[in-house]
Amino acid sequence: MDPNTSTRTAPTDPTEGAATVLDGNPVADRIHDDLGSATDSLRDSGVAPAVALVSMTDSGAGRTYVSMKEQACATVGVESTVHRIDPDRPAAALFELVADLNDDPAVHGVSVQSPLPDHVGPRAVARRIDPEKDVEGVHPENLGRLLAGTPRYTPPTAAGIVRLLDAYGIDTAGKRAVVVGRSEAVGRPTAVLLSGHGPGGDATTTVCHSRTADLAAATRSGDIVVVAAGRPGLVDGEMLSAGAVVVDVGINRVGAGDGDAAGQVAGDVDFESARRTAAAITPVPGGVGPLSVAMLLCNAVDAASRHAGVDVALP
Ligand code: NAD
Repeated sequence: MDPNTSTRTAPTDPTEGAATVLDGNPVADRIHDDLGSATDSLRDSGVAPAVALVSMTDSGAGRTYVSMKEQACATVGVESTVHRIDPDRPAAALFELVADLNDDPAVHGVSVQSPLPDHVGPRAVARRIDPEKDVEGVHPENLGRLLAGTPRYTPPTAAGIVRLLDAYGIDTAGKRAVVVGRSEAVGRPTAVLLSGHGPGGDATTTVCHSRTADLAAATRSGDIVVVAAGRPGLVDGEMLSAGAVVVDVGINRVGAGDGDAAGQVAGDVDFESARRTAAAITPVPGGVGPLSVAMLLCNAVDAASRHAGVDVALP
């Protein structure tokens, strides 16, 4: 499985040895290169693509995500401004900021970082973002468009998962895909893409969640298993069938006192046991994460191009 070719081939035969590690970084780097050309074209047309990165959290993970997005924006020539709101402030403070960003013609995309404080519901924020600027793809209009097969902005992590599988030549058509997690930002849109028509889709897809009675039975049925539960080590090698392709979306801080930047990052899959059973597996970090950021940037450049009415080729 070579990420430098987009030719679709069967996943590696597990009898060949340890699982192929699906490194997201080279795939994301290529997308960044292409996005750099797209932003150059926009600038030649007098458009400076710009996103607002909004954060209302003290968590180390949230801060890390925002700084990764900021750095990636700089790499591809998208201007980014970080807006931090004290998590103790009322939800209205966030809603007012989002309204201001919606009204600002120099801002093409608005990304509100998860997690949010308990007193701010993610749905309440999502429906306040201008759907034309909703680069995280979480506004009900954009989720509806995705479901209808006419996407505007696909949630970046879901889009990144499909892009990563394609980059490694992993065909999804006719496969049994199992998605663990049903969040609106990750699990459900991933299931929509995998079960949709055409490339990256056509998989017979099962969605599991916290009330699934026998998770191991479900995951063992999957040729492709995507785990996005936010539970470190939830899925191990015993819960997989030989030759499965495993996509670990989880990013969990373990060994830290309060979820802060200290400690280590762990996925939702027990990597060492899973890699002995699987044909291919994403690492954490360095698997899905780089693709999530790259696809967010694609959405941001797309938003700027739509706003300006200037067509650019997107990767
Ligand atoms: P979420 O908390 O919104 O959703 C978690 C889902 O997992 C829920 O639908 C829940 O039903 C399910 N779940 C929880 N415990 C379960 C269990 N024991 N068995 C089966 N299902 C269970 O989280 P999210 O926003 O979807 O994120 C999931 C994980 O992915 C988190 O670790 C998050 O940090 C990570 N994440 C990573 C990226 C990336 O770029 N790699 C992007 C977004 C989120």
